[in-house]
Amino acid sequence: MKMVIIGGGPAGRAAALELARLENEVILIEKSDLGGTCLNKGCMVVCGLNDVARFLNDAANFQNQEVLKLNYKFSYKNMAHGIKTTLSKIRHITEKETLEAGVKIIYAPAYFQKGLLYVEGEPIEYDKLIIATGGRPFIPPIDGAENAITYQDILNLEEVPEKLLIVGSGIIATEFASIFSSMGSEVHILCRNNFLSNLDQEVKEYVVKNLLKDIKIHEKVDTTKITRSGALTSRGQMEGLVLLATGIVPNSQLVSDLVITGKRGEIVVNERMETSAPGIYAAGDVIGGMGTTPVARMEGIVAAHNAAGIEKKANYEHLPYAISLDYDVAFLSSGKKSSLDGENYSQMVEGKIPGSAGPGSFWRVLSSNTGFTKTMVDIETGSIQELSSIAPGARYNMAYLSLLMRIHRKTYDFDHFVETHPSTDSIYKLMRFFAKY
Ligand SMILES: Cc1cc2nc3c(=O)[nH]c(=O)nc-3n(C[C@H](O)[C@H](O)[C@H](O)COP(=O)(O)OP(=O)(O)OC[C@H]3O[C@@H](n4cnc5c(N)ncnc54)[C@H](O)[C@@H]3O)c2cc1C
Repeated sequence: MKMVIIGGGPAGRAAALELARLENEVILIEKSDLGGTCLNKGCMVVCGLNDVARFLNDAANFQNQEVLKLNYKFSYKNMAHGIKTTLSKIRHITEKETLEAGVKIIYAPAYFQKGLLYVEGEPIEYDKLIIATGGRPFIPPIDGAENAITYQDILNLEEVPEKLLIVGSGIIATEFASIFSSMGSEVHILCRNNFLSNLDQEVKEYVVKNLLKDIKIHEKVDTTKITRSGALTSRGQMEGLVLLATGIVPNSQLVSDLVITGKRGEIVVNERMETSAPGIYAAGDVIGGMGTTPVARMEGIVAAHNAAGIEKKANYEHLPYAISLDYDVAFLSSGKKSSLDGENYSQMVEGKIPGSAGPGSFWRVLSSNTGFTKTMVDIETGSIQELSSIAPGARYNMAYLSLLMRIHRKTYDFDHFVETHPSTDSIYKLMRFFAKY
């Protein structure tokens, strides 16, 4: 079959590779850079910046403990250049892998006219179509919003802003706040409501107190005007460069006449990623889902399978998430109602353990900053309901825990667990403790 995919980000590329593997003729249309937001503006950019931010934090900590005496100069411009060069190498490898899999890539914007798909004036025919056009920054209707920057502009800054006002309250706002604070900015986070409201309260308190300690977080603040040098807020005038981290809107305009979209512009799909139009599927940020790369990839693969006639459904249970700060803050939830006021009140037990000394945390022991791990388990059945971990490398442990939960493993399965030592992973300790009951 002839399969066409619009968008070469994680969702589109995963779909393209899967369809090529299933021996279809595959055309991938990308208007900008292969790798999408994740590689070019999002995950990988944050990764490049955060590696430097963590190094700076370590350097300051070693200096405080008189292990190192440093006199270094940090160049934001050179770092941004280094990140761009690295991204370009990754893009090259990604493109090679895609072409070698047998996918034809067209670099140009796709558009529809009278229901037909076009690229550069040429109609493109298809048997099945997958829309994976991702999202773009949501710009709130604030007077002067054009004076603010978004995540898309981060690598074009010439230097670290002396003062940074981040409007937003989610993961992206938090990560940039941590990065720029570590690089020397005075950072304020302006939240219209509450900061990181979806996070477990105890995890949030630890993050605010220990991992964002130099950042001023202002909750329930309205930003009413933005200029090049500051913002007018309900708490008065504040000085600094404004960074909007106010969410993502789906790039669904090109198909809004073709398929049903929701209130926020997200393409409405069923669990097989089918849209309201026969033969047209959608996946990733354009369906307004979880907003993470692994989920976008999973949805791309589900769309690809169904487009190829293989029945498959997306499974959103026990998904892992991570926030990249000085340490990883990782968490997952069973997705079921599992708090102590739930039906199984007597069976639900919460456990918490301080982080261990190990690689990445040893030199933080004296400042009592080794994080912690917390879980909620059903003591009768051994099923793990919720899990959060603040520790170096917690993101990796959390992904494997997610797998164990997705295949319905229980606390008592950890009787078989053998750790590597030393390790900052405290998850298995908690699970072994519960396995005894
Ligand atoms: C700052 C930031 C940090 C993030 N960090 C993480 C993280 O650490 N971990 C994580 O899992 N997720 C992270 N994300 C989220 C992640 O980047 C997205 O969830 C993921 O990129 C979504 O993939 P996608 O394929 O749906 O869309 P995208 O990656 O946005 O790709 C869509 C592609 O479609 C192309 N396109 C759009 N319209 C057209 C058209 N008309 N014709 C042709 N091509 C078109 C675009 O150019 C783009 O390349 C982050 C996001 C941001 C903004």
